[in-house]
Amino acid sequence: MTAPKAHDWILDLAAYVPGRAKIEGIENPVKLSSNESVFGASPAAIDAHRDSADELMRYPDAASNDLRDAIAEVYNLNPDKIMCGAGSDDLLTLLIHAYAGPGDEVIYSQYGFMVYPIQTQAVGATGIAVPNKNWGADVDGILEAVTADTKLVFVDNPNNPTGAYLSWSEIERLHAGLRSDIVLVLDAAYAECVTADDYHSGEKLVERADNVIMTRTFSKMYALAGLRVGWAYGAPSIIDILNRIRMPFNVCLPGQPAAIAAVKDQAHLKAAVEFNTEWRDWLTASLAALGLDVVPSQTNFVLIGFPEEAPFTAELANQFLTKNGFLLRWLPGQGLASHLRLSIGTPEQNRAVVSLLTEFMNGSPEA
Ligand SMILES: *Cc1c(COP(=O)(O)O)cnc(C)c1O
Repeated sequence: MTAPKAHDWILDLAAYVPGRAKIEGIENPVKLSSNESVFGASPAAIDAHRDSADELMRYPDAASNDLRDAIAEVYNLNPDKIMCGAGSDDLLTLLIHAYAGPGDEVIYSQYGFMVYPIQTQAVGATGIAVPNKNWGADVDGILEAVTADTKLVFVDNPNNPTGAYLSWSEIERLHAGLRSDIVLVLDAAYAECVTADDYHSGEKLVERADNVIMTRTFSKMYALAGLRVGWAYGAPSIIDILNRIRMPFNVCLPGQPAAIAAVKDQAHLKAAVEFNTEWRDWLTASLAALGLDVVPSQTNFVLIGFPEEAPFTAELANQFLTKNGFLLRWLPGQGLASHLRLSIGTPEQNRAVVSLLTEFMNGSPEA
């Protein structure tokens, strides 16, 4: 008897590892490992979600029409070029499944969002990880990595897990250097919390290019990660392809009204962004004052570089924080063994992390 066998390229694929949520022996650990927004969702979104409870026997609107209209209105976009998904992960995955397969190449940054390499391998395509430059994507490196087999280029801008970003002129330079048959995916999951003046999330390139798609999410600054709602704005030919292969009811029934209420509550978003900026600045300055290397961030997290020498390494810091009930993200598998990624927490949590790391850097805490 032979057991069912998956494709060869799937057999050695390692599944996505989410940020840790539990510590053995500690009742309510502080989870700062998944870039969730502690500021919380708009109260209007929470009400809309609750109001949907009586309708749970219904299928959702398959095309997310009202949600696409609401997004289009708030962001001044064409609703026909919007597609919604079960988180932006859904849309990023569909792009790879639609455009790549065995023999094709997909380019992304070495330090970048893990969904790109995982889904590239899932379809049997070859992932090309280009080293980062100043923690962001390296435009010249990406352009040099393009071959006749390249099908997609992913740029998470700003970047996760580094927090760095590329200016709009760099994105335009990247696009200008790519063949027109290569899909450029601008993953703007953190667009809402960028404060840099020379940043743009990508919709204006979508308006004039047939090979560009921007992805966005309600998981980060809109604080609806648990509902899994994302959206893409793309060239009509790409949106058409994604609509053919997506699951028919991909955005859940409670998610649609909640996301509509969230996107309409721009005052709440603004307050969330102000909170984020204030504490991002504070954490960056406080951690740098301890002698740690903090990557300048445009996101809702900071990447912290630790010394290479014990007892001050990232691995030991991670153990020390864990022992004290704080969960950060350590990514040695991605080549970031000397760093920890810290999501911005509540004021009390942020102060507590800095005081623990002060203790850690000041000598030998009981590790
Ligand atoms: C969090 C994140 C996403 C996806 O989030 P969803 O919850 O699936 O919308 C996409 N890209 C990057 C870079 C992220 O950090």
